[in-house]
Amino acid sequence: MNTKVYIVDARHPNTDLLVSAAHIIQEGGLVAFPTETVYGLGADGTDSEAVAKIFMAKGRPSDNPLILHIADTAMVKTLAKEVPANARILMGRFWPGPLTLVLKRTQAVPDVVTGGLDTVAIRLPDSEVARELIRLAGVPVAGPSANTSGRPSPTTAQAVLADLEGKIEGIIDAGPCGIGVESTVVDCTTPVPTLLRPGGITMEMLLEVLGEVEYQPIKGEDTKAPRAPGMKYKHYAPLAPMVLYEGDSAQVAKAIADASKIALESKRVGAIVSNETAALLEKGVQVADYGSRYRPEEVAAGLYEALRYFDSEPVDVIYAEGIDEFGLGLAVMNRLRKAAGYRIVKVE
Ligand code: AMP
Ligand code: MG
Repeated sequence: MNTKVYIVDARHPNTDLLVSAAHIIQEGGLVAFPTETVYGLGADGTDSEAVAKIFMAKGRPSDNPLILHIADTAMVKTLAKEVPANARILMGRFWPGPLTLVLKRTQAVPDVVTGGLDTVAIRLPDSEVARELIRLAGVPVAGPSANTSGRPSPTTAQAVLADLEGKIEGIIDAGPCGIGVESTVVDCTTPVPTLLRPGGITMEMLLEVLGEVEYQPIKGEDTKAPRAPGMKYKHYAPLAPMVLYEGDSAQVAKAIADASKIALESKRVGAIVSNETAALLEKGVQVADYGSRYRPEEVAAGLYEALRYFDSEPVDVIYAEGIDEFGLGLAVMNRLRKAAGYRIVKVE
C-alpha cells in the first residue's frame, strides 16, 4: 500500500487535504494524524472492521482498548451512558486538551474499541488539525498512538512513517507535536476519580479542580488486571537495553558519567540525558539530549525523539537520566521506567 502524505499547516490546515484524509476514514481506512500530545492512528470508531485494522497495523494486543477522539462535547452523548459531576468539571476545565475520560459506555461503541470493557475512553483534542479531521469525518475517531506496539510513540510524521509506512492509507503531517507525551487518562466511574495514566494534564492541575485523585503507580512487572489495560505491556522501548538512573540529580549525573566511561571500554554506549549531564560525559558516548532537567515540559517534548535516536545510531547499552516527578515529570518518569523495562538504579 502506498501511504499518502498530506502536509498541512498546524494552525491553518488546508481544508481540501483534510477532506481527502477524512474520506479515507469514512471508507474504513487508516489515517495517522497529529494531536497536541503525539501522532494518533485514526479509524472510524463506529466501524468494527476499520478499528480491527488499527490493531493489525500496530501489532497491538486486542485487550488494550482505544481512545475515541471527538470534535465537540456534544459527541459524548452517543458514546457515554452517563457523565458524572466530576467528569463534567474536568471537561469544562481541560477540554479541548490532553485529558482522556473513562466513562460508562453505550451500545453505540463497538466491543473492539473497548476490548470488551463496559467503559469507554474519550478525548476532545486541542489540536486544530485533529478536531477538523474528526469534524469532517463526522464520526468519533479511534486513535491510539501511531507507532508499532511496544515502540516509543511518534511525535513527528517521520517517526510514524518509520513504523507504519506501507501499512496505512495516509498521514497528515503538521510538524512536531507540542506536548510530546500522551494524554492523561482519568477514570470517572469511581467515587473518587482515578488517574490511570499520567500525561499532558498534570496531577497538580487535576488536584486543583478535584481536591482528591486516586493514583497507584504500577510497580515493576506487576501484571495483575491493571485498570488501564495498556499499562501492563512493554512500552516505549528503544532497540538497545536501557538502564534508568533515578535520585539526586548531581549524583545521577555522576553515576551515569562513571558507568558510561567503564562501559565504553568494551561497548558502544548511548545516553539519554539532560543537557546538564551531557556536558559531563566522555566524548565516545553517543548522546540524545532531551533538554534541561529543570524544565519538565522541555523533557516531555524531546523524550520520544531521544528514545528513537538510537534506531539510526546503534549502541549496545543506553544509560538514561530520570527527572523529578513534578508537573510533566510524573508522565516522563512513567514512560522512562517502562522504556527501561524497570531496570532502575536508585542513587542517593
Ligand atoms: P494509547 O492508545 O497508546 O494512547 O493508549 C490508550 C490508553 O488508554 C491505554 O493505556 C488504554 O489501556 C487506556 N484505555 C483505553 N480505554 C480504556 C478504558 N475503557 N478503561 C481504562 N483504560 C482505557
Ligand atoms: Mg500508545
